[in-house]
This record gives sequence, C-alpha cells and structure tokens, in this order.
Amino acid sequence: MAMKMMKAVSLENELDRPILCPECEGVMVYRGLGEYRCEECGGISYDNYGKVRNYLEKHRGANVGEISDETGVSHKAIREMIKENRFEVIESRAGYIVCEMCGVDIKSGRLCHKCEELYHKQVEEQTRAERKKGKGYADGQTGEEGSKRYTRQR
Ligand SMILES: [Zn+2]
Ligand SMILES: [Zn+2]
Repeated sequence: MAMKMMKAVSLENELDRPILCPECEGVMVYRGLGEYRCEECGGISYDNYGKVRNYLEKHRGANVGEISDETGVSHKAIREMIKENRFEVIESRAGYIVCEMCGVDIKSGRLCHKCEELYHKQVEEQTRAERKKGKGYADGQTGEEGSKRYTRQR
C-alpha cells in the first residue's frame, strides 16, 4: 500500500465502515462517534458502532437481542463492542487498554482519538486515490464482505 501506518490495523470488518456513499459513491468522511458524511452529496451513514450507539442513546438498557434486531448489527459484533468497552453503559476499565497503533492508554475501543482520526483519514485518502486511478476500490485492500458489496455496486 502507498500509505504508511504506524501499525497496520483493520477495523473495516468489525465496524462495517461505510467507504463509499450508497447514493452517489462519493468518499465517506469520518466525523466521529461512528458517523460518516459523504463529501460529495452530504449524505450521512453510520458504521456498526454508530448504529448501536444511536440506538442505545434512545433505548437505554436495551439488551443485545433488541439492539441487533433494530440495528441489523450482529450479536457477535455487539458483544465485541461491549467487551471492548465502547459504550459508557459498562464500567470503565481505564488503564487496561492501550491504543493498537501508538500504545497510549485509552479508556475504551481499540485506538486513541488521534489514531482513530488518522486511521479514518487514511482510509479516505486511499479511497480517493483508488477512485482517481479509475480502479474499483478494495482490490485486495480489505477483501471481505463490507467492501465486496461496494465493488459490486459499481
Ligand atoms: Zn453521496
Ligand atoms: Zn493512538
């Protein structure tokens, strides 16, 4: 890959990050807390974390089954997120988790805020570069379910 990362991480499969806009195939830009905005039409999409988070904000105390039914996010993915302490519903395990890219202590998730932003910027840059080349996104980039769907829509 052209881009250098401090340490390679792959969150796409876990998060099902929206890469291209479902409406216009513009690049989806990370806005924080699982929300993405299309840089071309302004459409908003959410990754799994964003979907679950939105749902939990309105339905405090929902169980995994309810969350899954309403958001379409798999039980397994929800449990993973809870295990990683991504939601404030769970007691903080501060100090036990470190950022997978730079190694600083974090309270939840897998990356610190800085690296998370950096990570998403890299995905966006890569997507722009791929589109410029006139080549389909995701040839060997992530290679799994999330990206195949976008490839097919081309
Ligand atoms: Zn769009
Ligand atoms: Zn970091």
